[in-house]
Amino acid sequence: MKPANETFSSCGTTVFEVFSRLAVEAGAINLGQGFPDDRGPPDVLAEAVRALRDDSNQYPSMMGLPALRQAVARHGQRFYGLEVDWQTEVMVTSGATEALAACLLGLIRPGDEVVLFEPLYDSYWPIIRLAGGIPRLVTLRPPDWGFDRAGLAAAFSPRTKLVLVNDPLNPAAKVFTADELGLIAEFVLAHDAYVVCDEVYEHLVFDGRRHIPLITWPGLRDRCLKIGSAGKTFSLTGWKVGYVTGAPALLQPVARAHQFLTFTTPPNLQSAVAFGLAKDDSYFTGLAAGMQAKRDRLAAGLVAAGLTVLPSAGSYFLIADTRATGFTGDDVAFCRSLTVEARVAAIPVSAFYASAPLSGCIRFCFCKSDAVLDEAVARLIRHFTGR
Ligand code: PMP
Ligand code: GLN
Repeated sequence: MKPANETFSSCGTTVFEVFSRLAVEAGAINLGQGFPDDRGPPDVLAEAVRALRDDSNQYPSMMGLPALRQAVARHGQRFYGLEVDWQTEVMVTSGATEALAACLLGLIRPGDEVVLFEPLYDSYWPIIRLAGGIPRLVTLRPPDWGFDRAGLAAAFSPRTKLVLVNDPLNPAAKVFTADELGLIAEFVLAHDAYVVCDEVYEHLVFDGRRHIPLITWPGLRDRCLKIGSAGKTFSLTGWKVGYVTGAPALLQPVARAHQFLTFTTPPNLQSAVAFGLAKDDSYFTGLAAGMQAKRDRLAAGLVAAGLTVLPSAGSYFLIADTRATGFTGDDVAFCRSLTVEARVAAIPVSAFYASAPLSGCIRFCFCKSDAVLDEAVARLIRHFTGR
């Protein structure tokens, strides 16, 4: 057989799928792949049912239902004071995954350099390579996941086309500070570059922090593509409804890529997400508060089991440093053993590093019911302490 496209065939199956399958085989509680175990907001589900039954189920506009594009524009105004023209500056995609692919394929030309921070979400690298881009990494390390001017200066060059920023950052649970965003903005402007902002966890920011979209930063309004996901904002990860906001000249080439990737997204789900984005502020604050309480519940349990827990400022995730446990293998072996023997699945953080390996850190997902978190903690305590 002639060989398949190497960019993808060299990747292997994603770490999320690998550990979700292992969790099923082992009868483990899956705190690996990031997905909530509740049903999602009942009124959003009801709107999806209504729209499926009563509205058109044919191809909507490739840019998305007007109702959802308007809702995304209003959401930007309400939460970030961002003035958006829904007709020319918003596009609906099949999840943030497709939005990322459309942004990267639409903008990158072969030989363009792309600055990105590792740990990085697994879909970034192959899509950048597919587009002919050359990744330039800024490596972040625990416990603070910080970076400085020298780190950015080493990654930027006259060939830098764009920067990809995931804020809040999966898996590090880092929320970029205003100083860090300002530094990124300075380099972007100095290099006449663009920013693709993966902000799927924009409403999952804890302890009174505020999410600052880079698109609102002075000078960056026309240089940023802001990506959101209904999967995270409404705890409906299987829906795969995403949205991109950006200046018309930037969005247009992205729309050209999108028209040949998926073209459209199921219209009833778009209607339901439009409904959801218009919900009261209390929905959004309640989502973050509920998730913060789950973070604290799991963090306390992991500490009781003898793990060292790093701070989590946002997202669905907590990272534990496993080095104090005395386990001698790497983080992949640790997660395998945890899944099979303790029957709790987690994700090895090394999977998010493309250049410089990181060992000893594993990622737990806390967006689960209290009963599930408690049972996972009981299993971990038994596993590590024999109690
Ligand atoms: N970016 C990040 C950082 C993520 O964690 C996820 C999680 N699924 C995605 C993008 C993809 O989002 P979606 O499910 O909307 O495609
Ligand atoms: N974003 C999810 C996570 O980080 C996984 C999404 C996927 O499985 N592709 O766990």
